[in-house]
Amino acid sequence: LPWNAPLHQAARAIAPALAVGNTVVAKPSEHTPGSLIELARLAVEEAGLPAGVLNVVVGRGSVVGPAMVDHPKIQKISFTGSVRAGQELGRIAADRILPLTLELGGKSANIVFDDADLNAAAKGSVRAFTWNSGQWCCAGTRLLVQENIHDEFVEKFVNEVKALRVCHEHDATSGPITTHAQFLKVQEYLKIAGDEGMTCAVGGKVASGANLNGGWYIEPTVFTGVANEATLAKEEIFGPVVVVIPFKEEADALRIANDSDFGLAAGIWSRDIGRIHRVAAKLDAGRIVVNEYGGGFVQTPCGGFKHSGYGREQGIDALAHYTQLKSVIIRL
Ligand code: NAD
Repeated sequence: LPWNAPLHQAARAIAPALAVGNTVVAKPSEHTPGSLIELARLAVEEAGLPAGVLNVVVGRGSVVGPAMVDHPKIQKISFTGSVRAGQELGRIAADRILPLTLELGGKSANIVFDDADLNAAAKGSVRAFTWNSGQWCCAGTRLLVQENIHDEFVEKFVNEVKALRVCHEHDATSGPITTHAQFLKVQEYLKIAGDEGMTCAVGGKVASGANLNGGWYIEPTVFTGVANEATLAKEEIFGPVVVVIPFKEEADALRIANDSDFGLAAGIWSRDIGRIHRVAAKLDAGRIVVNEYGGGFVQTPCGGFKHSGYGREQGIDALAHYTQLKSVIIRL
């Protein structure tokens, strides 16, 4: 399990596995083990789950992860985290012929068409890249905007970003980065943007202020006029940074959106229901959200195309992943 939404990620992997009768060994991120340990304690002491049904193992992923996967009693792996670790697990799982669900990274396209409600799209597109300070696998970090509304929309969007409150309080509209390593990684990408001569419309540096107590805060950052080939349009940053990419026609939007190694989520902003269905059907992404960004329920499957992984968490599909199908054929 990763560190960016530790309790949520744990719940959505553990609940379906238990519901269909498995025992579970869960491994939290070394950065955020506390909430999962507490969940396991509550499960046994308060909810009456028999001891040994839900187990928690803590430690460094590179040591504990491979040891767990290599254990002969493990019969299925559900992994949420980086592409790199997913690839390593995949190699071990291949040797053991273990079924694997991989929920990996993303570089999701959020597409604003000229027939959209631009005010709603501007607000929603801010949430798309700043929720959880951008530390969100489904974050809409490639903002594709149709050329004929580009300037009008970008002005609204940038004004919304400028109105964000960066702070550590619970009502923060953009909060801190979780780990120091991640804080440095986001700054590295801001430096690359400078080296590649990208235009920064707002943000672009470490946030400072009396209320931040020297914490790990990045100003919500918007780069405009970006080509889809730029490093910041290709790689997952996991911080509050978005690139705005202009497009001409629907076909261009689809081509740019699908021109990515990832395919986790996508957003569509439009009032044309025909266009919404056409574009949703052609996007290579496991979750498509229309006229909002976020959404999703425990019933809606979540998972990726391409390097974003395979298999689906949540919904009926998740239950299927934690069971084995048999046919019994009887001659009577
Ligand atoms: P990470 O891959 O570094 O760590 C994830 C987990 O894997 C941790 O528990 C870690 O200890 C463990 N781990 C690390 N190396 C391992 C190895 N070789 N073998 C087995 N386990 C290993 O990822 P992270 O930095 O914690 O999380 C951020 C990444 O997770 C981002 O790329 C993000 O997009 C992705 N993520 C994806 C989803 C999704 O649903 N697709 C959700 C949240 C996060």
